[in-house]
Amino acid sequence: MKHDFDVLVVGGGHAGVEAAHVAARLGVSTCLVTFAANQIGVMSCNPAIGGLGKGHIVREIDAFDGLMGRVADASGIQFRLLNRRKGPAVQGPRAQADREIYKRVMQAEIEKTENLSVIEGEVVDFILVKDTINGVVLADGSALNAKKTVLTTGTFLRGTLHIGDEKSSGGRFGEAASNRLAERIDYMGLALGRLKTGTPPRLLKNTIDWSRTSEQAGDEDPTFFSFCTQTVAAQQISCGVTHTNEKTHEIIEKNLGRSAMYGGHIDGVGPRYCPSVEDKVTRFADKSSHQIFLEPESLETDLIYPNGISTSLPVDVQVSFLKTIVGLEAAEIAQPGYAIEYDYVDPRCLDHTLRLQDVEGLYLAGQINGTTGYEEAAGQGLVAGLNAALSVLDRDAFVPSRMTSYIGVMIDDLVLRGVSEPYRMFTSRAEYRLSLRADNADQRLTPVAEQIGCISNERRVMFAEKQEKLTSAWRQTEGGVITPADLRVYGIEVSQDGVKRTGIDLLGHPNVDFDAIAKIWPELDDIDPAIREQIARDAKYVYYIDRQKAEIESLLKEEATEIPLGFIYTGLPGLSNELAAKLTRISPRTIGQANRVEGMTPAALLLILTRIKTLEKSSVSG
Ligand code: FAD
Repeated sequence: MKHDFDVLVVGGGHAGVEAAHVAARLGVSTCLVTFAANQIGVMSCNPAIGGLGKGHIVREIDAFDGLMGRVADASGIQFRLLNRRKGPAVQGPRAQADREIYKRVMQAEIEKTENLSVIEGEVVDFILVKDTINGVVLADGSALNAKKTVLTTGTFLRGTLHIGDEKSSGGRFGEAASNRLAERIDYMGLALGRLKTGTPPRLLKNTIDWSRTSEQAGDEDPTFFSFCTQTVAAQQISCGVTHTNEKTHEIIEKNLGRSAMYGGHIDGVGPRYCPSVEDKVTRFADKSSHQIFLEPESLETDLIYPNGISTSLPVDVQVSFLKTIVGLEAAEIAQPGYAIEYDYVDPRCLDHTLRLQDVEGLYLAGQINGTTGYEEAAGQGLVAGLNAALSVLDRDAFVPSRMTSYIGVMIDDLVLRGVSEPYRMFTSRAEYRLSLRADNADQRLTPVAEQIGCISNERRVMFAEKQEKLTSAWRQTEGGVITPADLRVYGIEVSQDGVKRTGIDLLGHPNVDFDAIAKIWPELDDIDPAIREQIARDAKYVYYIDRQKAEIESLLKEEATEIPLGFIYTGLPGLSNELAAKLTRISPRTIGQANRVEGMTPAALLLILTRIKTLEKSSVSG
């Protein structure tokens, strides 16, 4: 069969652009087919990229020379490093992005990419020959033949929008749903489920009383996503902060029956970690107030995104609860909040390359696999696009590992455990989180990307220079040694064990920073500040990473350990109520089975194991 393209990507959302871009970077002829070219790179919900766990994924995409990090940097209007005061392993870069600039820069990137063309159209069917997908059919009847197809249709499959008891078909506000394709997927026998998510009303900036809200500025020294970005590109702004109050909650509670989410109009399961304001009022009934960030959607529009009050209540209720909020008393709604319900495909039908196991030639990535969030979608897009192209080139597949990336953690979780609610990334999902830091994503992954051949020459050179500097600085820092007694002269107290320590050893101590060791070895002062920072971060974790490895190894050895019948999860200190309830319901028989329960984290598993050991000890001694 003659193919029009090597790789065909359906959907121009966050998964689609990464998939198409990386396939084209590998040199195969690629086509991105999507409803409307001017909607490529649209942020369907919040105008922000990154955050805890999610920021790690963006850095990993960037390490492969993907788009999201660079585009977020170019459009960032406020940068904040979350958890700045905690250790680097749990710090997450986040940026509020200008929605218009983001879309524009993304579209420009796609347009200038070699080997990549864009076709507008609605995909309604697959070209299926025996058990192989050979491309797609568009609504106008035309066919696009391709060796591999990557499906990234997001929230569009049988999407239904809900505002109160009103519902309409749509992929997101103002855009048609993808119904015919969903029916085709259903007909093919893939396991489908329903999920839901929601978004807040958009407010007109000039109708908000900013004098009554407080202000939150970004970081003075912005942390970028891309390892290649040097400076901010867009104007930096602050956002406003206000709160819901008892009066707001009273109105919401009184009208819960009219909410699409609570009035029985939606069957799908929503994202636990991006709760609607209805959810917040119900689930956290003891709280009399919730924070709302008033985030400008763009420097070019008059729209404000009130982060924290996603809702599917009827418009009249949205209007009246807004009136109770300080600063929003006269706020006008430009677009009401709404919920969306859509089909997703059970990701357990995929392998670790995101390829469908039973049908040849088809890969799935993004929200279609039951995830939520731009970053999770983009990370999957990268893996699916990369593997589709590698397969066309008859090369070995790329399987990300949970030991070396958050993207690996996510894909492993999805294809092995599946989802029962929208999956979002958290640092707690990674057992190797001390080594999977946002700051070292390039050190972990760029060598892999270089081997695959998907990075630009510019990045290759930049990375090689950085690595060289890091290696030489590390050598220099561990070159000299000093005794505990001599350390006292410099005001550094360590245990007087007579053991000589290097600069790297000393940086592992909680209160020792690079300035302190440069007083002992003044030649270290010449090391570039960015390299010093990285060495200090890497050195902090040397000891802990070894310990982490040992803990994980011992955990793996315990796979067969039996969990006693009637084991009580509720109230186990450190175990979340949510996980305790799930484990009580499922009642796994072994540690291995518990490990495969959706939402299980390494830390939680360790808690259970420790409790079993304590019980065993007390029954022996008793
Ligand atoms: P999308 O960004 O949805 O892109 C899908 C693309 O596929 C679009 O370009 C579309 O035009 C195209 N397409 C679909 N069907 C076809 C077809 N048949 N033919 C051609 N093209 C097609 N995430 C959060 O993390 N937190 C939230 O609170 C949150 N709230 C949300 C609220 C709403 C109302 C919506 C709509 C989304 C929300 N999201 C939220 C989800 C976030 O938008 C998605 O996770 C992310 O956009 C998924 O990226 P994607 O690439 O998988 O799909």
